[in-house]
Amino acid sequence: MIKSIVMETPGFLEIYGKILLSDFLRYFIPASIAFISVWMILKKKLAHKFIQKIRPDNKKLWFEFRYSMSTVLIFASVGLCIYLGKDHGIFHIYGNINEFGWIYFVCSLGFMVIFHDAYFYWTHRWMHHPKIFRHVHLVHHLSTNPSPWAAYSFHPIEAFVQAMVLPIILFIIPAHNIIIFVFLIYMITRNVWGHLGYELLPKKFLKIKWLNFHTTTTHHSMHHQYSKCNYGLYFTWWDNWMKTTHKKYEESFEEVASRKSGRSCKIKCLVILLSTLVSIDVIGQSPTGKWMTFNEATGMPLSVISIRENLTNQTFEGVIDSVIVPDYVGEKGRCTFCTGDKKNKPLIGLEFLWNFKLDGKSWVDGKIIDPESGTIYDSKIWFANDDSIYVRGYGGIFNLFYRTQIWQRKTGNGIAGIWETIDDRFHLVKSEVELKVIQNELKGFIRKIFLMPYEGNYPICTECEGDLKNKPIVGMEFMSGFVSHENEWVDGKILDPGNGNVYSGKFWLKGENTLVIRGYWGPFFRTQEWKRFESP
Ligand SMILES: [Zn+2]
Ligand SMILES: [Zn+2]
Repeated sequence: MIKSIVMETPGFLEIYGKILLSDFLRYFIPASIAFISVWMILKKKLAHKFIQKIRPDNKKLWFEFRYSMSTVLIFASVGLCIYLGKDHGIFHIYGNINEFGWIYFVCSLGFMVIFHDAYFYWTHRWMHHPKIFRHVHLVHHLSTNPSPWAAYSFHPIEAFVQAMVLPIILFIIPAHNIIIFVFLIYMITRNVWGHLGYELLPKKFLKIKWLNFHTTTTHHSMHHQYSKCNYGLYFTWWDNWMKTTHKKYEESFEEVASRKSGRSCKIKCLVILLSTLVSIDVIGQSPTGKWMTFNEATGMPLSVISIRENLTNQTFEGVIDSVIVPDYVGEKGRCTFCTGDKKNKPLIGLEFLWNFKLDGKSWVDGKIIDPESGTIYDSKIWFANDDSIYVRGYGGIFNLFYRTQIWQRKTGNGIAGIWETIDDRFHLVKSEVELKVIQNELKGFIRKIFLMPYEGNYPICTECEGDLKNKPIVGMEFMSGFVSHENEWVDGKILDPGNGNVYSGKFWLKGENTLVIRGYWGPFFRTQEWKRFESP
């Protein structure tokens, strides 16, 4: 007896070693092909197809790879159990197609894929239960913008749950060796595709009847971005049936898929900008100081640029002072697309513009870098009014195409900007709001809201009335109509999205960084203080 165990041990280890190696290669080969080809070789060519904004840094890639290695170990262990189960007659894995015929051979693959899709959807939803999520599935969601290496980046419990799909299938139906192999290859290919980060499908894809039910990279990327939507693995069926597809999925997919590489966008931008440009003559101003830049698509603040004069050669230059990144975009990035000495430099502190020289009323001959693509544009700056400048970047042949941004001076004492509202009871930051002065009217928008876990991720205003009813609270205009009167902003309305009440109110600054808000409701009033948001 003792002899036979000793004799058998090397065989047993050898089998485990082989399964381990094949599980490792099954992950490593597709993930590295995707990473080397798309994330390294074609990254510049495909820059416009990158779904989210900021690339994960190397630390995050290592994190994904390390967890994937632990998953490989677990997959291999389950693989060994399948091997042993087969020997003991628990699973029927056959090698002769004629045993069940060709029709069965093909249909068994279809069954496996459809079964796995349902299994994944429901186990995935289970792992999003608040009690399970933070202990198990959070590991996978720490990649808010996943790379191909995230394909297996699971907590060991999740890895085990995912590995169990194969023994369950084999317990239900007999399967041919080749079908199991094809199924495993299909599984990893779709998985790496989902975590590719770049949307490579054509923009018509969702309109193609026989293909559009397949999930896309954007589909899964949105799951990582927003978490409580798009749970599906291979197909969109379950998400559609269970109404968990993100409302903007199709729109987002089409936006990414129809993005054109740099030049043709510039032509479009030119047409739009020509109709909106106004130039106001201002003499004696200097662009030195801090400027707020904005996301052109959403109008949200994007970064603060600090411009100063280089006195040795009388040029103006600027660095990125801070980047205002929404939570879901993840960590503040590095300039991965930059070349030369800027390559992989942190965005904060990056030399962003340089060599601008005063020429009459504008600053010309400058260079400006787009950290998202690494492209350097010729550029010019001039004043729009006291507090804003136009920054125009030129590109294309003979610099024929250009686009213009407007930046606002970041003043320490203005009311416009981002403020943190404080919870009356717990004295915690409850939300971030942005105040903007638009045509002399002060308006406020909710930029971010910090919720307790049970309050969900994407609250809507159930108590609001009229147009705002059931609209998402984040992004909502909740203050309007305030006008400046002496040192206060008065005569406006404030909506409390928590209860739908509308208050009249007024505002004034207390020092530089505190804003006092008084809301009136009938004869009563309540006063709150908000703190100026300092980007970390
Ligand atoms: Zn994922
Ligand atoms: Zn998830």
